[in-house]
Amino acid sequence: MRLSKQLFVTLREEPADAEVRSHALMARAGFIQKIAAGIYVYGPMMWRVLRRVERIVRDEHDKVGCQEMLMPAAQPRELWDESGRWDRYVNDGILFHFRDRKGSEVCLGPTHEEVITNYVKRMVQSHKQLPAILYQIQTKFRDEIRPRFGLMRGREFIMKDAYSFDCTAEAMVDSYQTMRTVYRNIFSRCGLRFTPVEADSGAIGGSGSEEFMVDADTGEDAIAVCRTTGYAANVEKAISQILAPPVPEAELAMHKEPTPAAKSCDDLQKLFPDLPLERMLKTVLYKAVIGDSEQVVAVICRGDRELNEVKLINHLGAVAIEMADEDTVKRVTGAEVGFAGPIGLSDDVRLLADKSVEGVQGFLCGANETDTHYLDVWFGRDLPKPETVDFGTVQEGDLTADGKGKIEITRGIEVGHIFQLGTKYSEAMGASYNDEDQKRQPIWMGCYGIGVSRVAASAVEQNHDEGGMIWPLPIAPYAVHLVQMKVGNEEQDALAQEIQNTLESEGIDVLWDDRKKIAPGAKFKDADLIGIPLRIVVGRDAGERQIEWSVRGVDSPRENLSAEDAMARVRAAVEESGR
Ligand code: ATP
Ligand code: MG
Repeated sequence: MRLSKQLFVTLREEPADAEVRSHALMARAGFIQKIAAGIYVYGPMMWRVLRRVERIVRDEHDKVGCQEMLMPAAQPRELWDESGRWDRYVNDGILFHFRDRKGSEVCLGPTHEEVITNYVKRMVQSHKQLPAILYQIQTKFRDEIRPRFGLMRGREFIMKDAYSFDCTAEAMVDSYQTMRTVYRNIFSRCGLRFTPVEADSGAIGGSGSEEFMVDADTGEDAIAVCRTTGYAANVEKAISQILAPPVPEAELAMHKEPTPAAKSCDDLQKLFPDLPLERMLKTVLYKAVIGDSEQVVAVICRGDRELNEVKLINHLGAVAIEMADEDTVKRVTGAEVGFAGPIGLSDDVRLLADKSVEGVQGFLCGANETDTHYLDVWFGRDLPKPETVDFGTVQEGDLTADGKGKIEITRGIEVGHIFQLGTKYSEAMGASYNDEDQKRQPIWMGCYGIGVSRVAASAVEQNHDEGGMIWPLPIAPYAVHLVQMKVGNEEQDALAQEIQNTLESEGIDVLWDDRKKIAPGAKFKDADLIGIPLRIVVGRDAGERQIEWSVRGVDSPRENLSAEDAMARVRAAVEESGR
C-alpha cells in the first residue's frame, strides 16, 4: 500500500486529556480521533489493527465450535425488565437510553445477556440442541462516569461477547474451561504479556470468574500475585492470611480517654505511640442499599488494614454502598465524625466485623462520643466476641492464604472477563429446555467478554518508547514498513516496487512510504510513531539490491542486507508470529 495514496496525518500536539502513553500516541498518529468524551473515530490504521485483533478472536472461537452472530445494539426495555436489570443500570447511570417516537423505552446495549437469553429461549426446545456457544463482535455503549485513557475506557467501544448454554452445572463448567483456554490462546496470539486472575463473581460466588489482565503499571486494576505459589487474584477478590497481634499480658479495665480532634489512626498514633496500629480498631460506617431499603452498616477493622467494598457489597447482597454522610454518622453515633465505635451504636445499625479483628485484645476504639476513645477493650468482656467475615483488602507483603508465599501487588488492564452465570438469566427470563424425561429445566449459562478496542490500546500501553508505538507483529496495522529515501530515483523506485509486489503477492501487507516531498528524517519519525514492527529502508544502495533492515523496538543495530535476505527475514517473522 502506497502511503502517498492514503489520507495519512500525524500531529505534533498530544491531546491535553491524554493521561497514558497509548492514548497520546494513538491520537498523535491519527489512529483515533475524539469527537466526544469516550467516543472516538477509528482511523484507517486503527481499523486495520482492530480487524487483526478480531481475526484472532474469531479464529480461536470458531476453532472450538462457537458460532458467530450479530445482535442489535438497540434493545427494548421490556427485556431488561424481565431480567430485572433496567432500574439498576439506569440508576447507576451507565445505560444510554431514550424513548422512541411511540414512547417506548429503548437502550443502547452495554452488554447482551438479555437479548441472547431471549433469543435462545425462543430457539431451544430440547436438550438435544445443547450445548451451544454463541458470540458476536459488536459496538457496546456504556455511559461511564469517567471515560478516559482513550480507547481503554470508552463510552462506545468494541466488544466480543460470547454466551454458553448448557443442560447442567457440570456442562457449564466444561464450556467455561473451554473458553478459558480460548482466552489464553487469544491474548498470547495478540502478543500481549498478561496474567489470568481470579475475579469477583458478584452475588453468584464460587470459583466461577476469571479476568485477563494485561500487565501494565498504568492499569486501573490492582492485582495480588505470589511468585512462589502462582496465586493471582484481582484485589477486589484476593484473600490473604493475617497474623493476629500478641495479646497484652495485663488485662486492664476498659476506660475512656480524651482524644481531642484525633479522628484518624494517624492522629491516634501520635497520642498513643506505644499502642501498635494492630490494636486500634476503626469503625467504618456505610449506607447500603439492600433491595428497596437503605441500611446503615458499621464495620470494625484493624487500624493497619483497609476494607474492601466489593466484598462488603457481596456479603450484604447490596445494590450499592457508600460511606455514611456526616448527618448519618452524627445520628447513629451521637458524635462528630471520627469517633465511631462498636460499643453504644444506635440500634438500627448493623454491626459487622472484618477478619482482621480476630484475636485482637486490649484494643482502642471509638467511644461514640466526640473527642473520646475507649482503651483496653476486650472482646468477650466489654463487648461480645463478633463473628468475623473477610472484608479486607490484601496488602503488599501479606502471606498468601495457604501461608506458603508473600503477596505482591501489581497493576493490570482488564482485557477479558469470563464468568459462570448459572441460571440467573435463564430463570428470570424463562429460558429452558426439555430434558430426556420431557421435563422443563433451566439452561445453564456462561458469559465471556473481550474488549477488542481495549486490547489494541493495551498492546500500545505495554509496547512503546520515546519515539512512538511498537505494535506486536500479530496485530500491527501492516507487517512491513518500507521506507523509500528518495522517491523518483529510478533504482530505488524499482526495488521498492519489487519488494512491495513480492511480499504482497504472498499475502504480507506492506506500507510503502513513497511520499515525495517528505525528508527521510520525517519519514523515520513517522515510522517510529506508528510502530510497524518490521522495517526495510530502500536508499542509496538500491542499485546493488541492498537495503537496511531493522525491527522496531528491538535494541539491535540496523543491518545491511540484500533485498532477498530481507524478504526472507520478513517471511520468517510473519510465520513465527502467526500473523
Ligand atoms: P471495567 O471493570 O473495566 O469497567 P467491566 O468489568 O465492566 O470492565 P465487562 O462487563 O466484564 O467489563 O466487559 C467485558 C470486557 O469489555 C472487559 O473485560 C473490558 O476488556 C471491556 N470493556 C468494558 N468496559 C469498557 C469500556 N468502557 N471501554 C473499553 N472496553 C471496555
Ligand atoms: Mg469485568
